[in-house]
Amino acid sequence: MSQPKEVPQMEKIVSLAKRRGFVFQSSEIYGGINGFWDYGPLGAELKRNLRDTWWRAMTRDREDVVGLDATIIMHPAIWKASGHVDTFSDPMADCLVTQKRFRADHVEPQSGVVYKWTGATDETGKTSNDTFSALLAAGKPAESARKVGIQFYTQRGLTNPQLLGETTEKVENSRGFNPENGAQLTDPVPFNLMFKTYVGATATEEDKAYLRPETAQAIFAQFKNVVNSTPQRVPFGICQIGKAFRNEVTPRNFTFRSREFEQMELEFFIKPDEAIEAVCGSVAPWSESADLSKPQDNWGWEMWHRYWVKERTDYYAGIGLGADVLDYHWQTKEELAHYARACVDILFKFPFGTEELEGIAARGDFDLTAHQNASRKPQDVFDEEVKNAFAKWTDEQRAALVERKKAEHRAKEKGGMTDAQVDEWCEKLFKGFYVPHVIEPSAGLDRLALAVLSNAYTEVEKTDPKGKSETLYVMRFHPRIAPVKVGVFPLLKNKPELVAKAREVYELLRKNLAAFYDEGGSIGKRYARQDEAGTPFCLTIDFDTLGEKGDDLKDTVTLRHRDDGSQERVKISELLGRLLPLVG
Ligand code: ATP
Repeated sequence: MSQPKEVPQMEKIVSLAKRRGFVFQSSEIYGGINGFWDYGPLGAELKRNLRDTWWRAMTRDREDVVGLDATIIMHPAIWKASGHVDTFSDPMADCLVTQKRFRADHVEPQSGVVYKWTGATDETGKTSNDTFSALLAAGKPAESARKVGIQFYTQRGLTNPQLLGETTEKVENSRGFNPENGAQLTDPVPFNLMFKTYVGATATEEDKAYLRPETAQAIFAQFKNVVNSTPQRVPFGICQIGKAFRNEVTPRNFTFRSREFEQMELEFFIKPDEAIEAVCGSVAPWSESADLSKPQDNWGWEMWHRYWVKERTDYYAGIGLGADVLDYHWQTKEELAHYARACVDILFKFPFGTEELEGIAARGDFDLTAHQNASRKPQDVFDEEVKNAFAKWTDEQRAALVERKKAEHRAKEKGGMTDAQVDEWCEKLFKGFYVPHVIEPSAGLDRLALAVLSNAYTEVEKTDPKGKSETLYVMRFHPRIAPVKVGVFPLLKNKPELVAKAREVYELLRKNLAAFYDEGGSIGKRYARQDEAGTPFCLTIDFDTLGEKGDDLKDTVTLRHRDDGSQERVKISELLGRLLPLVG
């Protein structure tokens, strides 16, 4: 499994993940396949727990969000309308010597002296007129750049090439050279990230379809069906968890950038601010001291956006990712998509750097409008309250709103409505019809699994009474997401009465929470094994449990806590009552 050498912490996590069955390289017995990962027994449980906590927080615990489970392959027109066919691409550049492929915008900017050649010739008289350049690494002799030049022309069929027309030039912060050998990269070309496939047996161009590169579009495409089949009315959300596929140019950092991954996305539909203004008189202004604890009728897009940033932050805190490991990147005007009003990336401090875990975007009505235009099926909703509110407005008030809206759109550099479109939009709004706007919290399940794996990973130095020290590994998962919640051990495996009692306790617990029975090796070894698996609680059944020291301790077990190693005696009858609230 390739990892950047400069991140030893990551190498250790990757190694533990494999050793303990969290994550395996896909197809490993055939050499693996770049950008694809499998989850082993512990990883599958961890991922399921993360999925469940998200689903519960986003929909079961709320009255205003419902779920969806859509197909991975959808009508290709969806991806045309959403803009993915035309613009979902990354810039790709290849090294002209090694042919290694780079994501052009991810190449480390380099400064230095560039050696350029107009061509080369060799002793057989063969020449190449291809120009080539190489960046000289700082502190290296000019010969090292020339060596790269010679490699380039050798690959073009020259034997012992003589470089021709050498010139040099200084460059600053250039992404045009391979950081590993200084060789020139090709000009970046856009590379569409969608995986293509064919539906049906004929496999013609007309049958071309795509594996979805995100789960969100299905939510937009099914918006009307959800509205028509549930009592939900705007503001409300539709969420979905599922596989997404992106043919990433350079998958890297373990599971962080994979080609097949799972997303957890919510589209939360809200009224346009103009509708709120009509119904409530004004739109609640955002300020640092705004109370975001409970949604209010007078919230416009900005308060809803801030609310979802807070909700998502609270969710992460609830599974053990607190403020100390998270950060935020508010996209600048230049970074924002033309239709987006705001977008914040929630970042996690991964061992290889602070990187995006989730994006939360205020996307206006871009998506539903795009599908409305492409499918010619109306995606607007009727809102009686909005209609009644505008009915109370004077003609002057309405005219002022139309003018304001026109000025707003004329000022847009890209994607603004024409005056005629604004007239039509306002006309509909005054009658209570609008295409909902949307706030989109979009998280990656695999990135989250990697975040909790990195966050949990702890090394503990232990010295035995003989002075011999060893490193133990403890995965400090929050109990809610730990793959196994409780380990159950008989003190000795060759005492049938201890084994019988331990199995009885195990059977009692496992009906309610993920439990693991282990009788192999010393108790210390068994604790260590569960620490590596991240099991927060372990129970030992000993002779006291059987009543050998009298009735006081009969039917009690030793409960050991992973994080501080503390132990206490707990009655078997009280175990579920103690453990369930901690892991639920
Ligand atoms: P990035 O800039 O890292 O490529 P993105 O901005 O393209 O991510 P989105 O399209 O906003 O990502 O996707 C939402 C979430 O899906 C991301 O925050 C991330 O958690 C997850 N995600 C996106 N691409 C990948 C991937 N290749 N592998 C794993 N998770 C991914």
